[in-house]
Amino acid sequence: MNRRHFLDTLGAGSLLALAPTAVRAAALKRVVVVGGGMAGATAAKYLRLWSNKTVDVTLVDTSTKYVSNIMSNLVVTGQYAPTILDYGWSNLVKSHGVKLLNGTVTQVESGGSLGTWKVTVTKGSTVTVLYAERVVLAPGVKFDAVPSTDNAALAAPVLHAWEAGTQTTQLRDYLAAMPSSGTFVLTIPKAPYRCPPGPYERACVVADYLKRNKSGAQIVVLDANQDITAERESFSHAFTMMYGGNLSYRPGRVVKSVSSTAGQPGGSVVVDVVVKDVGGQDVVMGTEVYDAQVLNVIPPHRAGSIVQSLGLADASGFAPVDGRSFESTVAGKKGIHVIGDASKTSLPKAGHVGNQGAKICVDAILRAFSAQDPYATPTANSACYSPLSNTIASWLTAVYQYQQDPASPGAWKYVAIDQVSAATGATEARSPSTGSFSKMGTWYKSLMTETFT
Ligand SMILES: Cc1cc2nc3c(=O)[nH]c(=O)nc-3n(C[C@H](O)[C@H](O)[C@H](O)COP(=O)(O)OP(=O)(O)OC[C@H]3O[C@@H](n4cnc5c(N)ncnc54)[C@H](O)[C@@H]3O)c2cc1C
Repeated sequence: MNRRHFLDTLGAGSLLALAPTAVRAAALKRVVVVGGGMAGATAAKYLRLWSNKTVDVTLVDTSTKYVSNIMSNLVVTGQYAPTILDYGWSNLVKSHGVKLLNGTVTQVESGGSLGTWKVTVTKGSTVTVLYAERVVLAPGVKFDAVPSTDNAALAAPVLHAWEAGTQTTQLRDYLAAMPSSGTFVLTIPKAPYRCPPGPYERACVVADYLKRNKSGAQIVVLDANQDITAERESFSHAFTMMYGGNLSYRPGRVVKSVSSTAGQPGGSVVVDVVVKDVGGQDVVMGTEVYDAQVLNVIPPHRAGSIVQSLGLADASGFAPVDGRSFESTVAGKKGIHVIGDASKTSLPKAGHVGNQGAKICVDAILRAFSAQDPYATPTANSACYSPLSNTIASWLTAVYQYQQDPASPGAWKYVAIDQVSAATGATEARSPSTGSFSKMGTWYKSLMTETFT
């Protein structure tokens, strides 16, 4: 099998056993991977696997465990225990010889004669310095402050639960304690945001929970986008046919300010009602106020702090990269790669895609260590199941290839190349089913096992 065929045809699982021949001869090089989430853990594993352990890999993470966002909506509804989200890196250490360091990367600068890059890791008062020829940044996202009516400079103390952990269980507890006639208000930021179908999935499983447990309660979904951004058919069908009685979906609602009290589940949110004019520009038609017994505001987000502080992000808040290698395109940052949600590409911000992008990045790094160019037209696939209730789920899949942008000759981007829906650029389930709900569990376990072992 040649290298082109290898990259074109294989998915996540099947790449596991292969080591590209071109990189077997690579001399010992050092790579520091920053962030052990869906993208970073994959990168650390495959740098070792595909180099036949000839590359020295240190994985740094602020946390002592990884808490998966995937499946966290079903922890919010209490269907699954929070432990279903917990993963660690011990298998990457044991099976692949990845070096693990607990701490926060606070600086990446020129390493002088000791290495291309010097990476500073801080934990309490302990500072560790690492040197590497390449650095892979996979820090995920940081959330913008929610504008508060009480004090515009302060973040409003409302939950997003868009990074799984204590906010997830806090939101679960707020939902469980909500009055039976209460209103749950969920706000969705403008795309691009982490996990395009995720907020609609949360809306559905919360509506399902309310239907089964609090028959007088409702959920209001305030979407800054003009329409559902992913799995449009499935979610619009669910919103009207399954939850027409207790879910109101309002597109074109952009959060202006929030009023809430720390430690309290409710509050109120003021939104601008925005429509597009014929030229595609936003026009504000007025404002609306929504009161909530449980307020769940997902703020706009951008690449994680280390990407911001190193000057790797552009005005979008994410890091522009060469899609063949995920290497930063910012001048003076050669050898720093940004993968996962923090990168700016036309790929969706999703865990499965983070896993795929990490492999493309690893292949490019190993080629660079052998003085080869990155593969010109890599492919990445994306698969995702979305629960619509406690028993049925939908799914979404797409295959992307890095190629000339059909809409902008000369520019390159990831383009969906399979049978796609014109609206979403992806294929989705014709109808949700209990069978898909059960396959969702298998898909989740496979993806997480593939990433963390
Ligand atoms: C509710 C919800 C549901 C979702 N469902 C799906 C789904 O069904 N399918 C799917 O594919 N995706 C899903 N996603 C999206 C998916 O979780 C993200 O796209 C994915 O986690 C991004 O991976 P990442 O590696 O970029 O970031 P993360 O997974 O967030 O990992 C970032 C890591 O970096 C560490 N870190 C950050 N900064 C530093 C630093 N300076 N030093 C050291 N460590 C650092 C953090 O501690 C963290 O461990 C969902 C997301 C949400 C919120």
